[in-house]
Amino acid sequence: MMAESFQQKALARELRPALSKDEALAEANRCLFCHDAPCMRACPTHIDVPLFIRQIATNNPGGAARTILQANILGASCARVCPTEVLCEGACVLTDQHRPIQIGPLQRHATDHAMAVKQPILTAGPKQPGSVGIIGAGPAGLACAAELLRLGYESVIYEAAERPGGLNASGVAQYKMTPEVAQAEVDWLVSAGVNIRCGVSVGKDVSVSELESRHDALFIGVGMGAIPGIQIAGEELPGVWDGLDLIAALKQGDREVFELLRGARVAVIGGGNTAIDVVTQASRAGAAKVWLIYRRGREQMSAYAHEVELAREHGVELVLHAVPHRVVGPSRGLSPRTSRVAGLEFGRKLPDGGERLETLPADLVVRATGQKGARLLAELPVRSEGGKVVADEAGRTSNPRYFAGGDCVSGGQEVVNAVAEGQRAARTIAGEVLSKLGGAQ
Ligand code: SF4
Repeated sequence: MMAESFQQKALARELRPALSKDEALAEANRCLFCHDAPCMRACPTHIDVPLFIRQIATNNPGGAARTILQANILGASCARVCPTEVLCEGACVLTDQHRPIQIGPLQRHATDHAMAVKQPILTAGPKQPGSVGIIGAGPAGLACAAELLRLGYESVIYEAAERPGGLNASGVAQYKMTPEVAQAEVDWLVSAGVNIRCGVSVGKDVSVSELESRHDALFIGVGMGAIPGIQIAGEELPGVWDGLDLIAALKQGDREVFELLRGARVAVIGGGNTAIDVVTQASRAGAAKVWLIYRRGREQMSAYAHEVELAREHGVELVLHAVPHRVVGPSRGLSPRTSRVAGLEFGRKLPDGGERLETLPADLVVRATGQKGARLLAELPVRSEGGKVVADEAGRTSNPRYFAGGDCVSGGQEVVNAVAEGQRAARTIAGEVLSKLGGAQ
C-alpha cells in the first residue's frame, strides 16, 4: 500500500518541474529579445515569445499570460505538452552557442500564475448574429469556440464523452501533464463563456440534420478513433491493451491498472509518439521491464528523438526490425482487466532478408500504433479520405457549411497545431458564413 501510494505520487509529478520565481526571472533575463524572433515563427500559434519573456523579466507575469493566451487559448497545456525542442526552443538563436531559452517552462510560469489568480483570459466581442455547432471538445473545438466568442459569435460544443478536453485530457501521458491541468484550463474557458454540452453523442443523442437546423455552420473537431487491431493471433486475449486506454486509466488513477503494471514486463508495439508515451509511462509506473517493438529501424520511427532518448533513460529497450506474430497465451488473472499473457512472439528481420523467431516473456502487450479514423466521419456530409476529413488550410471542407481542424484532418499532430487550426477555422467561418448573416465584422 505504501509502495503504491509512493508510486502514484511519483507518477503524478510532472517530469519538467515548475520554475521558481527567481529561476523564471533569471531565465527570462537571458533572452536576447530578438527582432523577427525565430522562436515566434516556429510556433504554430505565433505567440509573441520575446514580448512575453520581457514581461516576465519585468515582473509582469499577468501581462505575459495575456500575451500567450491571446495567441493560444490552451497556452497552459501547450507549455507542458509542446515538443518545444523541435518548435520554439529548437529555433532559439541561443541553441547553437549556449543553450536555448526554456520557453516552455517560462510559458508555464506565466499561465500557472494566471490560473492561480483566476485572471480573466477571454473577452467576448460585441454580440453578432449567427451560431456555430462544434463537434468535439478537444483542443481544436475549444480553440474554435474561444475564437468565435472573441469575435462575438455564439457556439455550442457537443462532446460525446462525459468530460471535455479530448486527448489533451485523457491521452497525454501523466508525466507530461496531470489531468487537473487540462480540467482547470477547460473550467477557465467555460467561465469565460465557452458553451460545452458533454455526454451528447452526435448521430445518437442529436442527429446531424438537427445540428444543421440549429446552427449556421458546423465545425468538425472529432479527433481520431481507436487504435486498430494489428491482425496477429492472440491479440484478443485479456492482457493485450490499447495504448490510449492504458494512458487514460493511469490518468484516472485506476488502482487496478497501477497494480497490474507494477513489476510487470511490458511489450509495446509501435514507433510513434503514442508508443513512446506508453513505454515511458509504463516504466514510471513501476514496470520491471519495458520493450518497444518496432518493425523498422530507429531512423524510420516517427517519434521525436528527444522522446526516444527519454524512454531509453527510463530503461526502455528498443527491439527494432521486429514484426509481431502472435501473443502467447493463455492469459492468467482474476479478471479480464487484470490478466497477464505469457509472451509476445515476433520475427526479427535479418540482413539476408530472412527472419528469426524470438519470444519476449511479456506479461502485457500494448498496441500503440496509429489511430484509425473517427466513426462519426461516415455520418457527416463531407469528403474524407483514409479516415481523415479533407480540409484546406483555412478549415474549409467539401461542404460549404462544414469546417474542420485538428487530428481528424491531420491524422494526429500536436495540441498547438490543433489550436491553430481551430482558431483559423473560426476566422474562416466568421468571414465567409456568419458575416453574411447581417452582423458587422
Ligand atoms: Fe529569446 Fe531565443 Fe526567442 Fe531570441 S530566439 S527572442 S533569444 S527565446
